[in-house]
Amino acid sequence: MSTESNVPVVIVGAGPTGVMLAIELARRGVEVRVFEKQTERSWAR
Ligand SMILES: Cc1cc2nc3c(=O)[nH]c(=O)nc-3n(C[C@H](O)[C@H](O)[C@H](O)COP(=O)(O)OP(=O)(O)OC[C@H]3O[C@@H](n4cnc5c(N)ncnc54)[C@H](O)[C@@H]3O)c2cc1C
Repeated sequence: MSTESNVPVVIVGAGPTGVMLAIELARRGVEVRVFEKQTERSWAR
């Protein structure tokens, strides 16, 4: 079985889980789109 994939992945939610998943997939060359419903950041700068 191949470990390579060119299937785009949509991740819903840019919390810690979604962002980490996006980073790990991108590191492996998987195209990722992250959708987040919040329009403002929820943490202080
Ligand atoms: C008040 C509070 C304090 C906390 N303090 C700490 C702490 O000090 N240290 C610690 O380690 N943990 C803390 N936690 C726990 C930590 O916040 C969670 O464990 C962590 O955020 C979980 O990450 P997650 O990515 O799984 O989910 P979330 O962080 O909940 O991320 C989910 C994301 O998905 C988005 N989303 C949901 N539905 C949709 C949709 N339909 N379409 C698009 N986007 C969507 C949400 O807007 C959100 O941004 C705290 C939690 C709370 C509530």
